[in-house]
Amino acid sequence: MNLESSIKTLTKIGPAVEKRLNRLGIKTIRDLLWHFPHRYEDFSNQKNIADLVLGETASIKAKIIQINTVRTWKKRMILTEALLEDQTGQIKAIWFNQPYLAKTFLPGLILSLSGKTAFRDEELYLSNPAYENALNNTHTARLAPIYPETQGLSSRWLRTYIRSLLPMIKSIPDPLPNELKQKTKIIDLPRALNQIHFPKNFQEAEIAKRRFAFEELFFIQLAFLKNKHKLAQEKSPQIPINIELIKKFLKTLPFELTPDQKNSLWEIIQDLNKPYPMNRLLQGDVGSGKTIVALAAAMAVLNQNYRAVLMSPTEILAQQHFKTAKEIMARQEKKYSVGIATSSKKENLDAELLIGTHALISQSVNLKNIGLVIIDEQHRFGVSQRHALIKSQKLVPHFLSMSATPIPRTVALAVWGDLDISLIKEMPKARKKIITKIVPPEKRKAAYDFIRKEIEANRQVFVICPRIEEKIKENFEDFMPRQASWDDLLMSEVKAVKNEYKKLSGEIFPDLKIAMLHGQLKSKEKEAIMKKFTRGEIQILVSTSVVEVGIDIPNASIMMIEGAEHFGLAQLHQFRGRVGRGPHQSYCFLLTESPAKNSMERLKALEKFDSGFDLAERDLVLRGPGDLAGVRQSGLPDLAMASLKDIDLIKMARESALKILKSDPVLKNYPLLQKGTERFQKILHLE
Ligand code: ADP
Ligand code: MG
Repeated sequence: MNLESSIKTLTKIGPAVEKRLNRLGIKTIRDLLWHFPHRYEDFSNQKNIADLVLGETASIKAKIIQINTVRTWKKRMILTEALLEDQTGQIKAIWFNQPYLAKTFLPGLILSLSGKTAFRDEELYLSNPAYENALNNTHTARLAPIYPETQGLSSRWLRTYIRSLLPMIKSIPDPLPNELKQKTKIIDLPRALNQIHFPKNFQEAEIAKRRFAFEELFFIQLAFLKNKHKLAQEKSPQIPINIELIKKFLKTLPFELTPDQKNSLWEIIQDLNKPYPMNRLLQGDVGSGKTIVALAAAMAVLNQNYRAVLMSPTEILAQQHFKTAKEIMARQEKKYSVGIATSSKKENLDAELLIGTHALISQSVNLKNIGLVIIDEQHRFGVSQRHALIKSQKLVPHFLSMSATPIPRTVALAVWGDLDISLIKEMPKARKKIITKIVPPEKRKAAYDFIRKEIEANRQVFVICPRIEEKIKENFEDFMPRQASWDDLLMSEVKAVKNEYKKLSGEIFPDLKIAMLHGQLKSKEKEAIMKKFTRGEIQILVSTSVVEVGIDIPNASIMMIEGAEHFGLAQLHQFRGRVGRGPHQSYCFLLTESPAKNSMERLKALEKFDSGFDLAERDLVLRGPGDLAGVRQSGLPDLAMASLKDIDLIKMARESALKILKSDPVLKNYPLLQKGTERFQKILHLE
């Protein structure tokens, strides 16, 4: 059996079934066998009829005494009733809308049935039980796997079909070497496949799941490490370590670098000195001062007559970096030119230091001779972007990503195992702790009074609005919830901002200067508003989450977040980072109407913790890894994602991968590992 063959090559899979399987993402035999249950129905409680009690889920073996089908008075439902008997007694089973049962199951047949007991007409009956010939045990009297389903393809069908494939499973070669399995106490592939679909008990299912989670994490590590190895074969400009130059640069700054900034810079400078490309992630909380570290590294590169590029996700951020960089250059002895490329502004495109958005990778921008590429607020540089940049280079540029979403170290390893990571943990000294408060409805007025006082003291205020999730009307015909489109969501976000703006400027602060910022404005308009806000001509800025990343307004001292329960921890923390950037005591108000218990816990965590790393760890516990910012976008397959909480498993996968590659860097002796690794390189979009 070749796992990569199309499901079409299997028996009993015609075009209709194939189409349905495709809908579940199942194209190959591997996809089908790896279509794992998301839970199991526990039908393992086997009983005699006489011992059944009301409301329990149980399994019986019984003979059919009588079976027939009736229409209910409503004429809408068809009931199939069977009278069943074992040595201890009789009971009825009732099925809804399955008239064919009366034709398939004739009196005398012995069935195995699993389901819940209910009470009607003063007698106990089995309601809609799962059933099968008592000689089988695929659907009843066991843990029955429940799969992700699609219309016309039930768990029952999947169970039957996958069960029929199991005899062939024995011949599937296991890519994991025996020695590794023994050491890590991971079970064999055929056994694991058997056990994940048809476990004898929950423990067996867990053991099987662990095997597959390990396998995914292990292949992911192999893919990352091989990618790293491949990068090390490429040629990059080798930038000499010039301490004097860096010292001179740092002397032009109005502050001294923190120890973490210094360490990070040192790690980067050492990477730049290697003949192959750096691939490093600089992680540090909002406001921890990543930009200056990156610019110092850029200086080292510029000094060697290579150019540097700094790419931001938004126009506003690019503008801000452009301004900062120009100010810094103005103070240098040797003044390198600075250019900018965004969709609306292109200036000095041949500059030595180029700043911009995605627009940088467009035809008109001169990208010759780039030695360093810095990506702001993105975890990973996309493959296509990388290609676009490498294309025009003689040597491969060094890559530095900067991210303000801190995630726990092990998780980072599992998600970005090919990146080296530098951490800026502590904040620059001068910064005051931001006072964070949950504001219930009855304290709203007090919050407004406080805002007024701050504004009278010349401070500025952000108000962030969540999108309004409009309740979708449910009706009888159309009970499937409609998926709101992106346009709808954008609209409701804009609507929320407009409403809030109307309220604040009309009723609450009619005498103050208030403006709004949202995704529907043109970038020129946004830019104009941000400029006014920066110059202090706007006192309150009502905004959607567009304000989330990067912007620096030192005079803003209050961040007021409406409907705070609608945002994730990482995002709230990002918002909060917009204030407290100047010398003033700053505040973050979390407004919430009636939060559910776990959103309240989230908000309380924010009140308590300042550090993004502490919060990320809380988030991991409260909501699971899938909700950590940046992790979901990593493209990790489901099982690996689900196992990110399992620190030991991640470490084991990393160490095993390192060990095997150390002894056999190209996996020459492990063709199956090699093939699997290639598969995961594709899944993870690694070149
Ligand atoms: P982020 O890490 O969020 O990108 P920035 O690089 O924008 O943070 O830095 C935020 C602010 O802190 C900037 O105004 C920057 O000049 C300032 N800053 C950076 N490093 C230090 C430091 N060591 N001491 C004091 N201020 C600093
Ligand atoms: Mg930044």
